[in-house]
Formats: sequence, structure tokens, C-alpha cells
Amino acid sequence: MTKHSYKLKAENAKNNKTKSAWLKFFYVGITDDVFSEDIRRIFIINLFASVGILFTLPLGLVSLFEGKVTLGICLLFIALLYAMNHVYLRYTHNYAVSGNFVIYPLYILMIYLVYTGGVSGTGHVWIYCVPAVSLFLHGMKRGMIELALFTIALIITMFFTNNHFAEFGYDPTLKSRILFSFIVVVFLSGIYEYSMARFNEELKETSAKLKLVAYTDSLTELLNRRGMLQRLEASSYSSFHLLLADVDFFKSINDEYGHDAGDYALSQLAKIIEESLSESDLAARWGGEEFLIAVCDCSDLEAFALAESIRKRVEKYEFAYLDHKFQMTMSFGVATMNETTSLREAITLADNYLYSAKRSGRNRTRKG
Ligand code: GH3
Ligand code: MG
Ligand code: MG
Repeated sequence: MTKHSYKLKAENAKNNKTKSAWLKFFYVGITDDVFSEDIRRIFIINLFASVGILFTLPLGLVSLFEGKVTLGICLLFIALLYAMNHVYLRYTHNYAVSGNFVIYPLYILMIYLVYTGGVSGTGHVWIYCVPAVSLFLHGMKRGMIELALFTIALIITMFFTNNHFAEFGYDPTLKSRILFSFIVVVFLSGIYEYSMARFNEELKETSAKLKLVAYTDSLTELLNRRGMLQRLEASSYSSFHLLLADVDFFKSINDEYGHDAGDYALSQLAKIIEESLSESDLAARWGGEEFLIAVCDCSDLEAFALAESIRKRVEKYEFAYLDHKFQMTMSFGVATMNETTSLREAITLADNYLYSAKRSGRNRTRKG
């Protein structure tokens, strides 16, 4: 490795570390499901609380130095509240309560800033961040209701109280402009939130559909190999039986009645298998004319009996495709996955027993 590539690798490792620390902070350590609404909200609350601290802390200190003690204490109190909020969120993941700690102090602070004029009469310029925070945290419906109430509070504060606007030379026209521009920002933020929510929904649906397609066999509608492996690896069962089945002389069905008849036979076989299983069992099309069945909560003998019952049902079944009527048989290999045998080992064992069933004459079940 050259000196340059060492440097690049070290830089990449540093970048990844920074990125993961960043994500750990904002997502409080949970990053598994990117589409989760909970995680989205946790991220947004943390982001706004952090941005809030960045502004309220220095502005609070400036206010104290300028002798605006009440405003300074308010701002520093909010900075402390937001910092504690992050800790609360980290330990509880309760974003509903935590979001309220961000948004309600913000509403009060904004009304207070508008009423007093804030630092040198600039208090009102901060109200434009309210619509985005409100809609992000509480979604379209609740966010809009709260914004409507906030706007009413704003109107009352600006036009019907002894506020300090006059001290800074603000006339009624300017006050109306502030109000109208705020309403425009509410409106635009609402449109943005609505389109984002719709986009997110569409993305979620498409992702679910794609997952289904990626894990399902289109001909039989059983799980495919990828789907089966994913389900088995994610299973909470530490032990289950694997039944690997293969159609005997399937090539001759294709040769004699055509490929479509072969396809039809495979889909019928999938139905027979599915009808023989219980809710907790899994079945997949493992390969061309091979099926893998996983059964939990049963003994070796029961797993063997299940393989035999499917084998017998297939043996008796008369397949009818167009004018053709034909029968088929299957061979089975049964193995157990448990604490001492890994999934991969159990699949190889089942394959070996299946091979043994084929060699000893087909249309039979072999187990360890
Ligand atoms: P054996 O008893 O040894 O298993 O014999 P076999 O003929 O079943 O085994 P072989 O592996 O020689 O043939 C499997 C055949 O399955 C070959 C292939 O054309 C056919 N096949 C695989 N996938 C499909 C499919 O999706 N549709 C159809 N119609 N045939 C398929
Ligand atoms: Mg075969
Ligand atoms: Mg085969």
C-alpha cells in the first residue's frame, strides 16, 4: 500500500467515525429503520433543540451583558431546557413528550420577543422559524392547528396589547407586513410539509412493494431463496426442522407436456405444500423444482411425518393442464437446525439426505 492510500484510508476512517458520532448524537443511537416516523421525529427534535441552543445560549449571554436580565434568563433557561431535552430523549426515546419541550417554550419565547421587541427591536424576526419547527414536529394537522392558535396569539400581542413596538418606531403598516409575511411562511411551510408527507408515504409503500417482490417467487408466490434466508436468519426460534424437497424426473414433465405445463405443476405443488403447513411454518421455492420448508415447534418424528404426508399428497394428486393429465412424485431430505448445527450446515445436511433419497429410488423421505 502506498503512503497516499494509507492517508486516504485513515481519512476515510476518520470521516466514518465523525459521521457515526454525528448520527449517534442526532438519532440517539437508533438508526435501523430509515422510514420510521419515530426516528424521523427524534432526529428533528434533536436537530431543532441543538440549533435552538446554538442561538439561545449566545443571545442569552448578550442580553445579560446588555442589562436585559429577564430576556437573558429566559434565553439561558431555554438553552438549558433544550440540553436536558436531549438527555431525556436519549434515555426514554419518548419523542412525543420531548417534542413538546421544544415547541411550547419556543411559542412562548416568540410571543415574549414580539411583545418586548427583543434585542434592539429585532425580536419579531425569529418568528419565521416557528412554522417549520411546528409542522416538522407535530405533522400537518396538529402543526396547522397550533400555527393558527399561534397566529391569533401573535395578532393579539401585536395589535391589542401595550407592546413595545412604538419604542422602536414600528408603525401599524410594518406590523401588518410582519403578520402577513408570517402567514405566507406558514402557508408555504404547510405546502412543503404536505408534499413531503405524501412523498414519504409513497416512498414507504414503494419500498414495501419492492421488498415483497425481492423476497417472493413470482410463479409460486412462495418466498424465494433470498426471502427464506432472510426470514430464517431473523427468526427468534433457535431450533427448527428443514424439509428440502425436489420433484422427481421433472425434466421429463417439461419434455413431454411443455414448459408451461411444468410451470403450472410447480404452482400446484406450491399450493399443496402451503395447504399442508401451519401459520408458523415457512415454505420457499428454493430453486428450479426444489422447495424448502421450515417447521418450528415439533419433534424430529413430527417433521418426518409432515414430509411424508406432503409426499403422499403429491403422489396421489392428478395434475391437469389443458388436455394433459399427469402425476408426479417428490423426494425429501429432513435435517434439524439447533444450537449445535448452524443454518448453513442444516441446509447442507438436508441436501445430503435428499440426495440419499434420490439415490435409493426417489419418492421417499430421508432424515438424519
Ligand atoms: P431428479 O429426479 O434427479 O431431480 O430429476 P429432474 O429431472 O427433476 O432433475 P433435473 O435437475 O435434471 O431437472 C430439473 C428440471 O427442472 C430442469 C429444468 O428445465 C426444470 N425447471 C427448473 N425451473 C423450472 C421452471 O421454472 N419451470 C419449468 N417448467 N421447469 C423448470
Ligand atoms: Mg428434480
Ligand atoms: Mg432439482
